[in-house]
Amino acid sequence: MPQQNPSRQIEIVEVGPRDGLQSEPGVLATAAKVELIERLIASGLRRLEVTSFVNPKKVPQMADAEQVLAALEKRTDVRYVGLVLNKKGFERALAAGCNEVGMAVVASDTFNRRNQGVGTDESIATWHEIAREARAAGIRAQVTVSAAFGCPFEGEIPVSRVIEVAKRVAEVEPFEVAFADTIGVGVPAQVSEILGRAREALPASVRLRAHFHNTRNTGLANAYAAVEAGVSALDSSVGGIGGCPFAPAATGNIPTEDLVYMLARSGVQTGVDLDKLVATAEWLQLTLGRNVPGMLLKAGNFPRPTAEAA
Ligand code: MG
Repeated sequence: MPQQNPSRQIEIVEVGPRDGLQSEPGVLATAAKVELIERLIASGLRRLEVTSFVNPKKVPQMADAEQVLAALEKRTDVRYVGLVLNKKGFERALAAGCNEVGMAVVASDTFNRRNQGVGTDESIATWHEIAREARAAGIRAQVTVSAAFGCPFEGEIPVSRVIEVAKRVAEVEPFEVAFADTIGVGVPAQVSEILGRAREALPASVRLRAHFHNTRNTGLANAYAAVEAGVSALDSSVGGIGGCPFAPAATGNIPTEDLVYMLARSGVQTGVDLDKLVATAEWLQLTLGRNVPGMLLKAGNFPRPTAEAA
């Protein structure tokens, strides 16, 4: 079997400021969002989904996208990712100063229509245009195949369909293609199959990323399966904030600090300072005024620092 990750390094894309905060009931002040992002960067994270450029009437939490970007220090070593779903969103992200855009295309046509108002084919065509314009503008563009592990409307999505959508989005040679378990139904065997087939089907130049939810407590197992299958990057959210819109009572994204803990003790480097990240999750808990789903901040790191080191 080929060794997929000889360097044993995984890049984490921190999605808390966008995917995480989006499901918060109250709108967080712009200054608090900026402080969250700055704390995450200080803990070593270098690629962050900081906002989305979508209709502010539909997603009031992200109405301050431009203001958040304007307040962030422009750094060549940090990727500020803006989520976009159409050309208008892309143009806003570009004008706001994002140095990376992410677009989502849903593997299920029904879900794509519900979420984006058009079918999957139309979203793929839009993505192709965005990818070309991003290249011309000199910014990085990547795309996520959403609901790749199951759909709330269509149920099981055949792996052949997921791979077909992935091949089509990869026609424009993006930096990266991601596979998202948008509703948190995936299991490790599926992860191995989908990512294994994607690696065979997509050009070697296209990096793979994965996005998991802990909705049914399989998120971290799926993340580890994805590492074994050769992803370069994983999405996660500080504290595990962010819900699943189709399971309102369930927890959402996999917690970044729990992921970093699992990877670090498995010999996989992420460049993240776990103590600083846990402190950020604690700060976030106070800022939101409620407990967050992450487990590490409840249980504590291991091994504990010695008295001298502490
Ligand atoms: Mg998510």
